[in-house]
Amino acid sequence: MRIIENIAEMQRLADAWRAQGERIAFVPTMGYLHEGHLSLLRTARQLGTRSVISIFVNPAQFAPTEDLASYPRALDRDLDFCVQIGVDAAFVPSASEMYPEGFQTYVEVTGVTKNLCGASRPIFFRGVATVVSKLFNAVKPHTAVFGQKDFQQLVTIRRMVKDLNLDIEIVGHEIVREKDGLAMSSRNTYLKAEERPIALRLSRSLQIARQLVDSGEKDSKKILKAVNDCLTAGGGASIDYAKLCDTETIEEIEKVEGPTLLALAVWVGKTRLIDNCVLGR
Ligand code: AMP
Repeated sequence: MRIIENIAEMQRLADAWRAQGERIAFVPTMGYLHEGHLSLLRTARQLGTRSVISIFVNPAQFAPTEDLASYPRALDRDLDFCVQIGVDAAFVPSASEMYPEGFQTYVEVTGVTKNLCGASRPIFFRGVATVVSKLFNAVKPHTAVFGQKDFQQLVTIRRMVKDLNLDIEIVGHEIVREKDGLAMSSRNTYLKAEERPIALRLSRSLQIARQLVDSGEKDSKKILKAVNDCLTAGGGASIDYAKLCDTETIEEIEKVEGPTLLALAVWVGKTRLIDNCVLGR
């Protein structure tokens, strides 16, 4: 596996592969890889003839009060996983390689980033859209795989690719969960043992909502009441948001008629967890 720290070197490798008719499939990550990331990488290997992972904890998407400094990192372990899976190249730039002195250009996607995580984390999607654009220009992929765990991020990237006419196919990958239902996340490592049962309420509340919708309930207020009750029963969880939204516009809806995103962000102690599912399909 090639390990590349430099943007120009990554571009040269991508150009050489493209000249040989290879199809480049790309998975951007912030590292501290878990089975969710590895599943995306396996999908990328099937979609392309060359697969590339990026591992970069992107300062531009963290507010000063957030966990940039403490975000878990384990580069050597991550690279071993990538070798085992058969990834062709790992792009691991430094922050100064990505944002050299004088950097002043950002990509902003407007409508779909207003609600949910965009409302709680105002600079987040600007940082995500900017770094993903830069990574796309470095890796020059034909296709890129993103997890539905970050549903609003996936919608934002699709919107950006469409609006900027980027010639890249975006593929969404289903959420990979622990056996107990907890959506895999690098941030799960922050959870204390006693917080884990509280964290399980996220996936449990999604199930409750699904059962309600399957049994004919359409009223958002009633569904969200059941979700809120499940999340807060027993204490220890603080809801950032629990909302039902249109899967394309990410605007809130009053009735579940057709595919509807149920999106959650919940603080369990000092850890902010997100999870979601699409109801009504
Ligand atoms: P991150 O390293 O958290 O920025 O995630 C990198 C990519 O992996 C993003 O496209 C995420 O949506 C995806 N991802 C993270 N966790 C999961 C999961 N549990 N299931 C599926 N995809 C995931």
